[in-house]
Amino acid sequence: MTLHARLKAHFPKLEAAEYFDFARHTVIGCGGTASAWAAPRNGEELALLLDFLRREHIPYCLLGAGANVLPKEGLFDGVVVRFCRMQQLCAEGRTVRVGAGVTGGRLLKELEARTLAGAEFLTGIPMTAGGAAAMNAGVREGHLGDLIESVACAEAGRTFVLTNAECRFSEKDSIFLREKLAVTCVTLNLKYSFPEEIARRRCYFRRKRASLPKGRSMGCVFVNPEGRSAGALIDGCGLKGTRIGGARVSELHANFIINEGGTSGDVSALIAHIQKIVLERTGILLREEIQRLP
Ligand SMILES: Cc1cc2nc3c(=O)[nH]c(=O)nc-3n(C[C@H](O)[C@H](O)[C@H](O)COP(=O)(O)OP(=O)(O)OC[C@H]3O[C@@H](n4cnc5c(N)ncnc54)[C@H](O)[C@@H]3O)c2cc1C
Repeated sequence: MTLHARLKAHFPKLEAAEYFDFARHTVIGCGGTASAWAAPRNGEELALLLDFLRREHIPYCLLGAGANVLPKEGLFDGVVVRFCRMQQLCAEGRTVRVGAGVTGGRLLKELEARTLAGAEFLTGIPMTAGGAAAMNAGVREGHLGDLIESVACAEAGRTFVLTNAECRFSEKDSIFLREKLAVTCVTLNLKYSFPEEIARRRCYFRRKRASLPKGRSMGCVFVNPEGRSAGALIDGCGLKGTRIGGARVSELHANFIINEGGTSGDVSALIAHIQKIVLERTGILLREEIQRLP
């Protein structure tokens, strides 16, 4: 019996299918395949699924928009849990509840329509609300964690809500990554503003991002070490333009790796090379921001 058939036998109503191509569903555009994927509709369905996977010793991974992940090559004989069915978005005054699968583009459009401000710094970041909460996504001007009141999440057999403090947000990190908790819904606290002011701020962030490298990437590969810029350290080591197979260090922004038809192996080898050279020349070990899958 295939993994997909086992899922369907146990959860006839669950949206699930065989075969998942990581290269097609990640921004970096490489990686192998998974035996099956599933897209639960809500936290309860997800908690039951995770419970089943745990009891049956079936491995799984969580995937949002695939913007910050590097999947391995080869077959992952497990389940990719997707959040595309969790699309609720409702506002009560300045409090907005956002399903884990809502994209950044849709979120910002809906907030703008309600003249709710504070999240404009997310403009242009490829993301789902769940992935962005797990990664505490943001820019110098702000991070998603700053706006979060609470997060509804799921683990095997139960759903629960964490307050902002319990989410333990820090630089590109949260309890969701550390403990592999699945985010199902994020509650944000925003403020009212004038439509022109929101549009002006979105335009500001859009312009700022115009200079970022184009092409298949994962955004910044490494977290900035305390008080330093990872990109400047990599650039200082003369690594811009370095290539391994189809993976290249961007000439525009040294903390970006661009994939031009390469494999996960190429990208991984380039990451290891950058870490080694930067450590040898500066004594600083760069920590990966990207998340390895599965
Ligand atoms: C061109 C480009 C520019 C970028 N610029 C920025 C930037 O300016 N600032 C920034 O912070 N990031 C940036 N990124 C990285 C990325 O956009 C963010 O980290 C984003 O939040 C990832 O969201 P996602 O839905 O794609 O998550 P994914 O990449 O799919 O997943 C990221 C991690 O979160 C986990 N995850 C996904 N969904 C959930 C969930 N529902 N519950 C629990 N865990 C989950 C995954 O297992 C994985 O560990 C950029 C990426 C690219 C490609």
